[in-house]
Amino acid sequence: MHLPINVTGYTDFYSSKEHATNVGSMFRDPANALLPNWLHLPVGYNGRASSVVVSGTDIRRPMGQVKLPSAEHPMFSACAKLDFELETAFIVGANTALGEPVSVNHAEDIIFGMVLLNDWSARDIQQWEYVPLGPFNAKTFATSISPWVVTMEALEPFRVPGPAQDPQPLPYLRQVGDHSFDISLAVDLQPADSDRPTTICNTNYRAMYWSMAQQLAHHTVSGCNLCVGDLMASGTISGIAPDSFGSLLELSWNGQRPLTLIDGHTKRSFLEDGDLVDLPRNSNPLFDVFEADYAAVLRDNRPGMGIPCGQQLAGLDDNTVPDAQCGAIRNLVAFPFAAIVVSYQHFTGTRNDDLFTFGIRHIPHLCIESNHAV
Ligand code: CA
Repeated sequence: MHLPINVTGYTDFYSSKEHATNVGSMFRDPANALLPNWLHLPVGYNGRASSVVVSGTDIRRPMGQVKLPSAEHPMFSACAKLDFELETAFIVGANTALGEPVSVNHAEDIIFGMVLLNDWSARDIQQWEYVPLGPFNAKTFATSISPWVVTMEALEPFRVPGPAQDPQPLPYLRQVGDHSFDISLAVDLQPADSDRPTTICNTNYRAMYWSMAQQLAHHTVSGCNLCVGDLMASGTISGIAPDSFGSLLELSWNGQRPLTLIDGHTKRSFLEDGDLVDLPRNSNPLFDVFEADYAAVLRDNRPGMGIPCGQQLAGLDDNTVPDAQCGAIRNLVAFPFAAIVVSYQHFTGTRNDDLFTFGIRHIPHLCIESNHAV
């Protein structure tokens, strides 16, 4: 499989209140777990686009500087606290101009679709390096995304209200209406010597405090421009219940409470060599959307609902997308088709030469986020 987009930029937000509260409680003060800015802006950092890889790519355990609490000096070693972060991400579908913020009410118009994302994290490296500018090498060694994109139009049936925001955000972040999505998510963990996975997390995107539109509006409010293909991750998606935490850091409470896997004896605080991390299809309406529209393609073979094997959508081999087709292209949901590489125009029909290049190989079955830690 191939990356579904050329990743032009990668930003990772931190928009789950439950996740931020857990991390703040663990490393700072449970009574003041959220930093003072958290309820006022969607905290984020600029990540590394070059190391975004497609699901299924093996991940090499990173080396780096680690300083043990009992040690006076840091040492150079392999990461001993390798972790995943269960996230989604959205893909920007239009270029914006430098110096021109995108309003929160217009932001959804330039979000093309969503992918699943695993923000692989080296916790011990992160803990030493992150002050004061945030994570660096702890996050740059790999970020996995799913090989298909679900458009926002396809997610429309899953639109739900987000959580109430208190205090009220500043005007440039204020929204009315429903701007979250009911997307159930899970994490399965399977050691190399195990014949079955253990579901270690069940959570849902819908509780995310800051919406994608707010993230995008905040990202551009300073005048930062966006590019087609920019990838913007949600941040770890944790719920309130302990089995809904979206990282091993939280699930094992930084190793204080190791998980027991389904065999009854294997323990995990962080990832071991050969572990498989899977964001499974069963619980995820993204896959229902995927399968529903894939079925529609097989049944009707309608242009715009998918790209038949070996063909291109009419109008996509030149620089124009007829208006009449824009609606159809907006319904393009996923791309389980064989051996085609398609460049096509943005779904609004805006001219863009280097837009999404979809490198699609045949997917024999629906293959989900699955990565080995090796
Ligand atoms: Ca993250």
